[in-house]
Formats: sequence, structure tokens, C-alpha cells
Amino acid sequence: MQPLTDRWQQHLSNAISDPAQLIRLLDLPDSLVEPARRAAQQFPLRVPQPFIDRMVKGDINDPLLKQVLPLDAELEPVPGFTTDPLAEMQSNPHDGLIHKYQGRVLLITTGACAINCRYCFRRHFPYQDNKLGPEQWQAILDYIRADSSIHEVLFSGGDPLATPDRRILAMLEDLADIPHLSRVRFHTRLPVVIPQRITPELISALTATRLQAVMVLHANHPNEINQQLADALVPMQQARITVLNQAVLLKGINDEVATLRQLSEKLFAAGVLPYYLFVLDPVAGSAHFDISDSDAQTLIRELQSQLPGYLLPRLAREVPGKPSKTLLSLD
Ligand SMILES: *Cc1c(COP(=O)(O)O)cnc(C)c1O
Ligand code: SF4
Repeated sequence: MQPLTDRWQQHLSNAISDPAQLIRLLDLPDSLVEPARRAAQQFPLRVPQPFIDRMVKGDINDPLLKQVLPLDAELEPVPGFTTDPLAEMQSNPHDGLIHKYQGRVLLITTGACAINCRYCFRRHFPYQDNKLGPEQWQAILDYIRADSSIHEVLFSGGDPLATPDRRILAMLEDLADIPHLSRVRFHTRLPVVIPQRITPELISALTATRLQAVMVLHANHPNEINQQLADALVPMQQARITVLNQAVLLKGINDEVATLRQLSEKLFAAGVLPYYLFVLDPVAGSAHFDISDSDAQTLIRELQSQLPGYLLPRLAREVPGKPSKTLLSLD
């Protein structure tokens, strides 16, 4: 048994949301508090202690801190940066299901996240507390059952691993009854933020099902991958669960070749393969993280020359209305 204070739910509910508290914990200047409070009114600060533990005290440029600290720059309107860059409000996710790509459907299991990432395109999304209710779940099962072209179900959010293990187990049991499904995928940042989230119950839920399980983590910087996370991922490998990573290219955080190379190498050392590296969605409040396509392409070309092919993430973006993610050319 894990001690109660070390359970993931505990870390989730104790997540820091007061900018003054975070700034004090990290020995940072008090002058950061007021701007952080202003920007947090639009999208709250939220960061759990295990993630804070990986930040360097006194470093205002810490790459993990920069992902979560609200800044005045977020409040400046920038042309082209909107509240719904992926036009998802139109594609109607309110019933919890998005079917845009052939063969796979995406479920919004919960609007909750363990951490609020300042660059997130969901920062303006009005579904903070949406949860899949029983009727919605039945409707989703009916939809999937009726379409035999669907082979994979993606759990997304928010963060799908904010859902309790027993609920995940129950959902997987329902899905496994649908014969044309073969894979289930979780897009989650929670194990990175709170490694204790990888519980024995989660592993057994993922191995009890006949569906092949894929876990897509979200880490942007090598400092996010500490020993605790690497240790927590071992049971995933032992259970033969495929673990991938997606990252977002962020100015001032991971926009250097050495940083991206180290990210790929540390991921692989922990049994995780790089999958996507997304360019930023043009969401209002995140323009200060933006990198031009040509700079991104230059960066990845250089990365390609330094890494084996299997450690190179696919540089991509999501373009509304396209039948897949759009890869950026490296030629
Ligand atoms: C990104 C996404 C997927 C998954 O795309 P892959 O290229 O298979 O990783 C599926 N459905 C939706 C709606 C998506 O946005
Ligand atoms: S965990 Fe994912 S969905 Fe949640 S705020 Fe961060 S990037 Fe957005």
C-alpha cells in the first residue's frame, strides 16, 4: 500500500492554485505575484507538488515553471490567436465524442486536468467540469457499435486519467464487448505530472482487457522526466503497454536542438517513444510561446541529423477540417 499522503488523488486535490504560494515555494521575486493573479483570473494556476519538485528554486526561467506560471503577456490580444483555434466548439464535443479521423474516435472523458498548461488550446474551453454521464456513455457505445469502421477509441479530455481506476476498468469492459474495436488509447499528462497515477489497479485494468492499450504521455522538457517517473513507467513496460509521448514546441522552453535531443533520449531511456511534436495552436493568451514554422522546421532538421530515426518526433499541427494531423515538411 502506498502511504495515503502519496496517493495521486491527494496530490491532485492539493495542487497549488495560489500564485503567491507557488512563488514563495520557489523563492521567486514577489513582483511576479500580481501579474500572475491577473492572468490567473482568465485561466487559473494549477500545479501539483510532484511537478513543482522538478523545478529549480530561484530560477525565473525554469522550463517547467514557464509552462504553468500565469503572465501578463497572456492578456495582450494578438491577431490570429483566438479562443477556439481548432473550431472544436463547432464540431460539437458536448456529447463527449469527436469522430474526425477514419477508424478512430476521441472521447472527452472529463474536463479536469491535473495541471493547467498556459499554452493549452483548451484554456478557453467551457467544459471544465463536464463528465461523461451514464446516458452519454450508452449513447457513445451505441454510436461505436453501429460503425464497424471504428477500430480504436481514444480517451482524451481534459485528462482521462483524472478518472478513477474502477471507472476506467468498467469503460474498458464495455468497449471490449464491441467486436470491431482492437485498440484503446489514453492521451494523458497525469503520469508525468503525478507519477503515482500509475497504480497497480490501472495496470491491471489495461492488461485485463483484450483491447491493445496505448498510452500517449505529454512531456515537453527533459527535466519533466525524473527517476520517479521512470520508475513508475516500469510496470507499463512489463505489461507490454505501448507508451508514446507528444510534446508542444514552446519558445523559451524546448526550442533548442539540445533540449529536444535530450527529451527524446530521456524518454527512450524510460521506455517511451517520441510520437508528435506539435507546433502551437494559435490560442489567445499563448502567443508568447509561438515559434514560426520555418524556425520549427530548421530545428527539427537539425534534430534529425543528431538522432536515430526512431527518436525523431513527427512535427505536426492540427488543421481544422483535415482528415489527419498535418505533418510539416522537413525538405
Ligand atoms: C489527434 C486526434 C486523433 C488521433 O490522431 P493520430 O494521428 O491517430 O494520433 C483522433 N481524433 C481526433 C479528433 C484528434 O484530434
Ligand atoms: S494537461 Fe493537457 S489538456 Fe490539460 S491543460 Fe495541460 S495540455 Fe491542456
